[in-house]
Order: sequence, then C-alpha cells, then structure tokens
Amino acid sequence: MTTLQTRKVFGLIGRNVDYSWSPLIHNTAFEALGMPCVYTIFDIATPELVGDALRGARALGIQGFSVTIPYKKVVVPFLDELSPEAQSIGAVNTIVNENGRLTGHNTDIAGFAAPLLPWADRIRGKRVCIFGNGGAALAAIEAFRTLLRPSSVLLFVRDLHKADELLEGYGHRELVVPCRTGDLDLPLGSQQLQECSVIVNATPIGTSGRTDPIRSIVPTGRELFHPGQVVYDMVYNPLETTLLADARAAGAATVPGIEMLIAQAARAFFIWTGREMPVEAVRSVLMREIGQPAPSVRG
Ligand code: NAP
Repeated sequence: MTTLQTRKVFGLIGRNVDYSWSPLIHNTAFEALGMPCVYTIFDIATPELVGDALRGARALGIQGFSVTIPYKKVVVPFLDELSPEAQSIGAVNTIVNENGRLTGHNTDIAGFAAPLLPWADRIRGKRVCIFGNGGAALAAIEAFRTLLRPSSVLLFVRDLHKADELLEGYGHRELVVPCRTGDLDLPLGSQQLQECSVIVNATPIGTSGRTDPIRSIVPTGRELFHPGQVVYDMVYNPLETTLLADARAAGAATVPGIEMLIAQAARAFFIWTGREMPVEAVRSVLMREIGQPAPSVRG
C-alpha cells in the first residue's frame, strides 16, 4: 500500500474554501487511476501570505494548485510564467510546479466553452449575454471570443462602472456591450435578452443556502426564454437552479454549472499529470454528493 509520504501533493489555494468540491473531484480521479497523489486544501488568510505560500510550495515540491476566490489575480506576480489564456484575462486558476518553476494557467476559459461546443454553429456570429462582472464573467467573455465567436457579448451588470473596471486592461473590449440588469424591466432590455443565442449566469444568484431577494438572475414569469436558446448557469449547487428550470420549461436547452466544474478540473488534471481525468467516475460521485441536501452554502 502507498504511504502518504510517497504521494505527490496538489491543493487548492483560496480563502474560506472548506466547502470546495475540488478535493472530491481530484482525489476521486487519482483513486480511479491508481495514482499515488493526494489533493488537499490550503486556506490562506490574507493576500500578503500568498507569496510566502508559493515560495514554500517550490521548496516543498508541491506539484500543483488550483486557485480560487480571492487569489486568481493575486498569485500572478509570484509565478515564473503564464499561459496565453491566463495572460489574456490576467487571472490564474491552475498552477503547475515543474522543478521549482511555477506556470499559471486558466482552465476556466476552455472549461466554460466545453459544454457549449455542441451548439457552436448556433452561437457563431450571433449575440450572446452574460450576467455578472466578476472573474467568471471575464473568463466566459474570453471563451466566447476565442472558441465560439459570437457577434457581440451583452454584459448585464448592476453597476456600469464595475463593468468598466472588469474590462480595464482586457484587450478585446470592443466585443462587449455593457448593459444594466435594471434595463430588463424595459421593452428594449427584454428584447435584447430574447435575441441572445446563449444566456449565461456568472453571478452566485440561485446558489443553495443564499438569502438573496431573487431566486433567478433573469426575472421569472416573463417569457424571456425560447426554444432556440441555450441557458447556462455557472451555479452548480443545486444541480438544477430556478434559472435552469424556467429555461427548460420554456423549451430552451440548458447547461448546469457542474459541467463547467468538471471540464475546468479535467483540464487542470491533464496539465498536472498528463493523464485524462476519468470524468464519468467524477461526475457520478459529484452528482451523488451535490444531490444531497447542502449543509451550507457551496459557492
Ligand atoms: P465574483 O467575482 O464574486 O463575482 C460575482 C458577480 O455577481 C459580481 O460581479 C456581482 O456583482 C454579481 N452579482 C451578485 N448578485 C447580483 C445581482 N443580484 N444582480 C447582478 N449581479 C449580481 O464571483 P466569480 O468568481 O465571478 O463567480 C461567479 C459565480 O460563478 C459564483 O457563484 C461561482 O461559484 C460560479 N463559478 C462556477 C464555476 C463552475 O465551474 N461552475 C467556475 C467559476 C465560477 P456586483 O459587483 O454588483 O456585486
């Protein structure tokens, strides 16, 4: 039997990340493939400690990291190299340590696009929209630009200044049209949404255990969806959110957040190990776990 001492170590860097599904995902994959590896959580209390953590990782030979909120940008100055994807949005969600040389990647971009590829023809040259102005929204914008090529991306945000902040330094902002979520109450806003081939929720609205005044980022009961659309919710707990249930009832195709969760993890797994993640084994374990009543918010 392999002892812990001989295992390669991987982990998640973030803050307050006890809730994360990443250990379950990667340890299930390591076990299924019989690999002598273990994935754990490194909860880092403040941004000031991130540099120390990465210097320590080089010294300890930790093989790789996932990176999550709030450190996806914070890690960048401490890395030796960035992949073109990570460079394009200035954010890293995966780090690989090759003999002390740390390279940052961003697998959220390809991971977001993967479940949409079957609809690529329907998306190319058409308008799409994204709700949210955080890092996940920017990864989705870059995924659309590089892999799916819509004519434009409507970015629905509460505050247009925040959209400007998000897009500052992004090299392709001409693709993005910031819009206010409040405009959905106006006929033009509703019409813009109805004309989109894909609608993406990149906010936490709909996550189990939250107490937001709304249950879906798209107003319910307004007939805003139709069968020609794909509605994509990055939220993965619950498996079917109110947004997805409404979209499905209107005949739209739906993509649940668990698909992105698995796709981005599979790409990280390949970068670290050179092996394909056994995604069906991972999906069935995750479905079983997330399907359970959530003890707390898993955002
Ligand atoms: P973030 O940086 O915290 O951004 C969240 C965004 O949601 C903010 O821009 C916030 O806008 C917006 N928002 C919150 N409530 C809103 C509302 N009522 N109306 C409009 N906008 C609202 O988070 P993130 O990293 O971008 O992630 C966003 C979500 O995607 C999270 O739930 C995360 O778990 C999920 N995610 C899933 C995957 C996956 O693999 N499935 C991957 C990445 C992220 P304000 O700035 O106005 O507050």
